[in-house]
Amino acid sequence: MSYKITDACISCGACEPECPVGAITAGDDKYVIDAAACIDCGACASVCPVEAPVQE
Ligand code: SF4
Ligand code: SF4
Repeated sequence: MSYKITDACISCGACEPECPVGAITAGDDKYVIDAAACIDCGACASVCPVEAPVQE
């Protein structure tokens, strides 16, 4: 299991510093999560203003 960021992302950047394993980076049109690095903690989802990170 890991989180992924949906197209709802507005690229605000709030989630990036909250990830304890540095799995979040800025992509071309939204932020992206490295699924191999994600430890499923949910911190990104808790700070996102538009609920873009979802568990998959
Ligand atoms: Fe990082 Fe946790 Fe979000 Fe995974 S769920 S991308 S580990 S903040
Ligand atoms: Fe995108 Fe949400 Fe992260 Fe902001 S906090 S960059 S809207 S996923």
